Amino acid sequence: MAVQVPPVPQGKNYINGAWQSGDVAASITVRNPADGSVLGEIPNSDAGVVDQAVQAARQAFNNPDWRQLPPMARESLLQRLADLIDQNADELAALESLDNGKPLAFSSTVDVPLSAMWFRYFAGWCSKLSGRQLTPALQPEGSHHVYTRREPVGVVGAIVPWNFPLVLAVWKLAPALAAGCTVVLKPAEQTPYSALRLASLFEEAGFPPGVFNVVLGDGPTTGQAIVDHPGISKISFTGSTAVGKHILHSVADDLKRVTLELGGKSPTIVMPDADMDIAVPGATQAVFVNAGQICFAGTRLFAPRKQFDQVLEGIANVASTFKIGAGLNPETLLGPVVSQKQMDGILGKVDASISQGASLFCGGKRYGDTGYFIEPTILVTEDQTNPAFRDEFFGPVLTATPYDDLDELAAMANDSCYGLAAHIYTQELNTAHLLAAKLEAGTVWVNTQLSPDPNIPFGGFKQSGWGRENSEDVFSHYTETKSVVMKIA
Ligand code: NAD
Repeated sequence: MAVQVPPVPQGKNYINGAWQSGDVAASITVRNPADGSVLGEIPNSDAGVVDQAVQAARQAFNNPDWRQLPPMARESLLQRLADLIDQNADELAALESLDNGKPLAFSSTVDVPLSAMWFRYFAGWCSKLSGRQLTPALQPEGSHHVYTRREPVGVVGAIVPWNFPLVLAVWKLAPALAAGCTVVLKPAEQTPYSALRLASLFEEAGFPPGVFNVVLGDGPTTGQAIVDHPGISKISFTGSTAVGKHILHSVADDLKRVTLELGGKSPTIVMPDADMDIAVPGATQAVFVNAGQICFAGTRLFAPRKQFDQVLEGIANVASTFKIGAGLNPETLLGPVVSQKQMDGILGKVDASISQGASLFCGGKRYGDTGYFIEPTILVTEDQTNPAFRDEFFGPVLTATPYDDLDELAAMANDSCYGLAAHIYTQELNTAHLLAAKLEAGTVWVNTQLSPDPNIPFGGFKQSGWGRENSEDVFSHYTETKSVVMKIA
């Protein structure tokens, strides 16, 4: 039985510690992807509203209550926020499932707990971030005192997609705030509600006004206004490669700092010696969890020709056990995709792939006639120009390709404009390390899948992005390094 529907926050911007109730001409309807019903309306905030948020964030950045806060005090605030996420975990998970459609079994064990953990992990960095003392190479020994400072970059514009609305926002907020930045967040227009609930937790945790602001709206209006605003020092973007490229062009004039986490078409490679009890369920999860709406999903499968049918049948069997239904039903393991537009787009790409020669192993259709559900789908092709091989579908669709020659495997897996992640299933240590070194991917998982960690850098090669999130590496994007060189008299 479905859990109780959580209260949906009012669709208001959160700026300078207050909920804005001003007139907004244009608004956006937010829908429940499980049945298409209306969850609420949110404003499509224009450049004027974005300006208010940026000004508030800039003032907060310069406010001694934030700027000069002892690192341990900032750490305590972030820890308090993590505690509040834990205390409100059931409500946040239900809200995420309602808004995005993802199974409660997932939002309650992944999205919400990981959000709290990310804040805790980065809270610890507040007091660890420091500069270095250096010895100049060209000056007499002892004649100069040289050190670097790591200073917060300023106001961060964080723009996130709808597939992990809370977690992906937290991946940006936690390090940005730990570094001493302030943030203007734009959630995706399809899934705004967990960010609004998070804003109320920021308030409860006692953050100074303006440190965290949420501005609601679509990409071309609100997102673009954030990207174009001269008061924003850095854009931290997660979304499609097309929009990422557009953002890069937009910031060329004022050279804002930018990190981009973009699309993927990640390979899952099953080696001939793989333990099939690990590889088959792993490959199934890698592509069908979150209805395939994961940037690093393993959407291209490579399996030895001799074992190809066995692997595909295994994956189809495991996927057939995933109960399809509304995210709020605790038994659901495969929810809807996020919107009608997304569903139509994915099914259109499946049809185009088939009409260009791919064969359908299973699925390929809408599931039911209410909501935006798609059957777990497997396409087979050996044509590396087929859309199923090349294009990101961002839905529950696996493209499978048999291989004969181990020497060609890395080249086939690397034949993509993307390079976000890769999965290898093998019991051979040498194979694992040799192949991991050859793959053009920001993360290579061996005998495991989909397990990001705050202490492990994450990001893409090639058109999957610029920069790395998570771990100490992320601070290179949220801080500027200043060198101080002093001559000793
Ligand atoms: P999208 O690029 O359409 O939208 C992402 C965000 O950008 C949304 O908030 C949107 O409103 C905003 N946006 C759109 N146009 C904009 C503009 N001109 N200026 C500023 N902001 C703008 O992507 P999507 O369809 O919401 O998400 C799916 C994509 O995100 C997929 O390609 C997926 O691979 C990618 N993604 C990547 C990662 C990663 O970490 N690499 C994680 C999740 C999703």
